[in-house]
Amino acid sequence: MTRIIVVTSGKGGVGKTTCSANLGMALAQRDRRVAVIDADFGLRNLDLLLGLENRIVYTAFDLLAGDCRLEQALVKDKRQPNLALLPAAQNRSKESITPEQMQELVNQIVANEWDYILIDCPAGIEMGFKNAIAAAKEAIVVTTPEISAVRDADRVIGLLEANGIKDMRLIVNRLRPAMVQEEQMMSVQDVQDILAIPLLGVIPDDERVIVSTNRGEPLVLEKKLSLAGIAFGNVARRLEGETVPFLDLNAPHDDLFARLRRFLRG
Ligand code: ADP
Ligand code: MG
Repeated sequence: MTRIIVVTSGKGGVGKTTCSANLGMALAQRDRRVAVIDADFGLRNLDLLLGLENRIVYTAFDLLAGDCRLEQALVKDKRQPNLALLPAAQNRSKESITPEQMQELVNQIVANEWDYILIDCPAGIEMGFKNAIAAAKEAIVVTTPEISAVRDADRVIGLLEANGIKDMRLIVNRLRPAMVQEEQMMSVQDVQDILAIPLLGVIPDDERVIVSTNRGEPLVLEKKLSLAGIAFGNVARRLEGETVPFLDLNAPHDDLFARLRRFLRG
């Protein structure tokens, strides 16, 4: 059974692509075969985050047109052969793929027996969004702890429900614990109270995320994992049904790292 999960948010720039890349890589590290689909046909950048931009020959459109086979369109990650990307074409408008075509792409990957399909959704709630969610059975809703992002996430949750996607989970990204403590930022609890869907993960705001974006190396590949990298790994474990306690992002970092090391050693 292939799990088909759309990563969505409503608002742009909150971390959908970052989550898709890191979660895809983290699941692949757990020996799952993961295909990530870049459904942001207007502003593709999942290829950049995964460092695969130079290896794209065919795109989803070539596959739909019958100009290549699935194995040719899927760009395999060199570092992690369990992970592959189905790229979007860069110069097409967001409207240029239909929900039926998205379903067709997903069907082909399902027939190829991948464990996960992660669909990186564009911002907004227009056609691009509708196409991206068309074939999904589950959703990961990403938001930052900002009122505008949470409001958009709330609308998206309503639309997902209306489209029959009931299995939704929340990632709160870019949390800054110090700001929460000073009551300058919404807490995870505040966000959860508003959105009322189960929490899948909390990712701290961390400049290493930006560095990793620029290098095309997902954080979960780091030898010495950062807190954000660990948090993404935990998201993958929870997605697979493990019960993993949420990191206490408020603890002083030294403490936290000492405890984490003990925890990871087992
Ligand atoms: P979206 O796909 O929702 O538009 P992206 O994943 O492209 O968002 O992220 C937008 C920007 O925010 C990127 O520059 C990314 O590096 C940065 N970013 C995302 N998550 C974090 C984080 N946890 N800490 C710091 N920067 C982040
Ligand atoms: Mg994106």
